[in-house]
Amino acid sequence: MVSSPEPLPGRQLPGAIRWTGNEKVMIRFENVSIAYDRKSQPALDDVSIDIQRGEFVFLVGSSGSGKSTMLRLVLREYKTPHGQIYVAGQNVANVPSWRVPKFRRGIGVVFQDFRLIQTKTVFANVAYAMQVVGTSRAAIRAEVPRVLELVGLAGKGHRKPTELSGGEQQRVAIARAIVNQPAILLADEPTGNLDPITSAGIMDILEEINQNGTTVVMATHDDDIVDSMRKRVIELRHGKVVRDEAMAQYTSLIPIVPAASWQSAVGPAEKPNAEKPDAELQTGRERADSVLGVSDGPSSETTAEEEFMPQRLERQRDREPPLDGDAQTSTGNFMDEDQK
Ligand code: ADP
Repeated sequence: MVSSPEPLPGRQLPGAIRWTGNEKVMIRFENVSIAYDRKSQPALDDVSIDIQRGEFVFLVGSSGSGKSTMLRLVLREYKTPHGQIYVAGQNVANVPSWRVPKFRRGIGVVFQDFRLIQTKTVFANVAYAMQVVGTSRAAIRAEVPRVLELVGLAGKGHRKPTELSGGEQQRVAIARAIVNQPAILLADEPTGNLDPITSAGIMDILEEINQNGTTVVMATHDDDIVDSMRKRVIELRHGKVVRDEAMAQYTSLIPIVPAASWQSAVGPAEKPNAEKPDAELQTGRERADSVLGVSDGPSSETTAEEEFMPQRLERQRDREPPLDGDAQTSTGNFMDEDQK
């Protein structure tokens, strides 16, 4: 079971999320489905998950499986998918449009391509996130150096992004994302442009942020990182959750049972994690085990070869070309809106 640290005393979110400190479930998807247009397959198909306060969760799955769409929905980039999404107990569909920018300021976001303001210094990039929520100049002067130190950039506040390495730029982006002490940090392939050693440094920072009480949800393809961190892994395939497993690896050690088979095997009341008390939460592996126990053999989508070599085949799947372009380019950019 993932531990949930207590909230920091007196912690207030600057955005519209009304954080009382008592919410156990930070993100809840209830039977969420969404298609970008009528002709295409749903980008998410009946997704139900709970992410508890203080959890660190990896979202994995090949390009086009729906990871970025989940993150965008948490940010309320789309209003009415089928189903309900709650962030810190608040139904995001009920956030009026005019309050959405403020709502988003309560959630830190980090992207693969950093999205820094190239003309501003490191200090100014981070300070900007505080200015837009009305923080005093004195507080900004005190807080920005503290956050830059946390991400290992002490003394580099005067530099421009072009004078930094990729890893350093991502550290600036993380500093900007956490400077307002968000309850949630969403990271969309944050190590996608970085080498393994630099990526490991970024993960150390994200883990430290998580240990300070921030719920972290990270979409990634990086199997080495997922394998080394041993956090909860939610795997998507064609918009469905096909695995939800605690302390997991990038690749399931057992063949993945398609969601449709779960439904038929365990019955309609058995939705992934959404409505079960913590003590009864069943990992995807346990659930798949129980399903496998009642199944005669590999499912129609699981070949005999997959049974024996799931890891190799999973990696092959991840090398498949994206269904519709690069996920990164379709990621919404609310920070840009703020920067105008
Ligand atoms: P991932 O992040 O796992 O790569 P996405 O959430 O970006 O997946 O995409 C899920 C599905 O939705 C894919 O089929 C993708 O082609 C489609 N999709 C994503 N963004 C858009 C968009 N802006 N317009 C139309 N289809 C989209």
